[in-house]
Amino acid sequence: MFTKELYQYFIKKETPFYYYDMELLRESLEKLKQASGKYNYEVHYAIKANANDYILEMIKNFGFGADCVSGNEVKKAVETGISPEKIVFSGVGKSDNEILYAIDKSIFSFNSESIEEIEVINEWGNKKHKIVPVSLRLNPDIDAITHKYLTTGLPENKFGIPLQFLDNVIQNVQQMENIKLVGIHFHIGSQIRELSPYIELCEKVNSIQDVLFEKYKIIPDHINLGGGLGINYEDPDSELIPDFNNFFGTIHQHLKLRKNQKIHFELGRSVVGQVGSLISRVLYIKKGLNKNFMILDAGMTDLIRPALYGAQHKIQNISKPEAQIINYKYDVVGPVCESSDSFDDNVMLPMTSRGDLVAIRSTGAYGEIMVSQYTLRDKPGTLYSDKIKFDKSIPKKSNLK
Ligand SMILES: *Cc1c(COP(=O)(O)O)cnc(C)c1O
Repeated sequence: MFTKELYQYFIKKETPFYYYDMELLRESLEKLKQASGKYNYEVHYAIKANANDYILEMIKNFGFGADCVSGNEVKKAVETGISPEKIVFSGVGKSDNEILYAIDKSIFSFNSESIEEIEVINEWGNKKHKIVPVSLRLNPDIDAITHKYLTTGLPENKFGIPLQFLDNVIQNVQQMENIKLVGIHFHIGSQIRELSPYIELCEKVNSIQDVLFEKYKIIPDHINLGGGLGINYEDPDSELIPDFNNFFGTIHQHLKLRKNQKIHFELGRSVVGQVGSLISRVLYIKKGLNKNFMILDAGMTDLIRPALYGAQHKIQNISKPEAQIINYKYDVVGPVCESSDSFDDNVMLPMTSRGDLVAIRSTGAYGEIMVSQYTLRDKPGTLYSDKIKFDKSIPKKSNLK
C-alpha cells in the first residue's frame, strides 16, 4: 500500500494526516455496486462513518443513497447532490428542527424507533400538509457478536422498538393521518464479522412479515437491514475489500420476500474502513520502567476508537518496510494528557527511532469524522492518493513556521 515513492512524499508532509487510497475506494464501490445490483438491493451509505467531501462525492457518483443520523447529515447528503429519494434518516432522538428539515426535503424514509417520536413527526406532517413516509426500526433481540458498545439489537440497548410493542405501535400508527408506514428497519450493530447474526435476522424478519400480513394485511414496501458488516482490522492487506458477494448472497438465501418488496442496506464501515490510514511521526521513544513507550504526534483527538472502545488497529512502521527483525515491543501512545490516549500495548515492531513514520491502518471509518480539538490540538490533515503529483523537484518543507 505504501510504495517508496509514496513514502518519500509522506516524509515531507506535516503529520499527522489521514491518507485515503481513492483507487481502493473506487474498487470497493465497484464491487459493492456489482454485488448489491445482482439482487436489486439498494445501498444507502452511512454518512457517519466518514463525511469527508471528496469521499462522499465519489460515493454519490456511484449512485448510492445516504443513511443519515442527524439533520446536518441529511443536509450534507442533499448538498452533496444525493437525491432525497435515496436518503433515509435514522436515529433514536430526532429534534423538531431536524424532523422539519427532512420533511421539507421530502426524504425517502424516516427510520423511527419510538411511538413518541412518530407522534411528533405526524404533528409536523400535519402542519406541513404532508404525508410522511416512516419505517419502524425494530429491536429484534439478536446478539451481533461484537463489542458491547457496538451492539444495538439487544433489549438492553436504547435502539429500536421492542417486538412486544409492535402491535401497539402499528395500531397507533394506523390512526395517524400524516404518517405512511413504508417499511421495517433493523440495524443490529457494527463490526459484525460473522454472518450468523444476519441469518438470524433474516429468520426474525420472515416471522415478523408473517405476523404483519396475517394480522394487519401489511406488506411493507421495503425492508431495511441496516449496516454493520465488519472489516479485517488484524490483517487489512489480506482483505482490503470485504466480501460483499457473500454478504448479500447470504441475505438473499435466507430472506423470504413478498411481491414488490425491496431490500435496503446502510453500510458504512465496510465501504470506507480500509481506505484510510492515519500517518503519524514518532516524537519520542521513551524508556519506561519495564516498557518502551512510542510517543506519536497523533493522539486520541485524531483517532478516538482505541480510547473509546478499545479498538485495535494494525500499526506499521513505514520507515522500516524492509526490516527483517521485528523484536521490539512498544506501547504506542499519543501526546494527549489522558491515560486512555493509547493506540495499543505491546506492539511488536522493528527498532523504531524518533522521526520514523507510522501508519495506523483501517482508519477510513469512524476516524477523521470523530476528530476533536481537545487540548486545542490541530486537526489532522488529509491526503488523497489521486491528488498526489509525484514531483521530484518539491523541496522538503520545514515543519517550523
Ligand atoms: C451507524 C449506522 C449504520 C452503519 O453501520 P456500519 O457498522 O458502519 O456499517 C447503519 N445504520 C444505522 C442506523 C446506523 O446508526
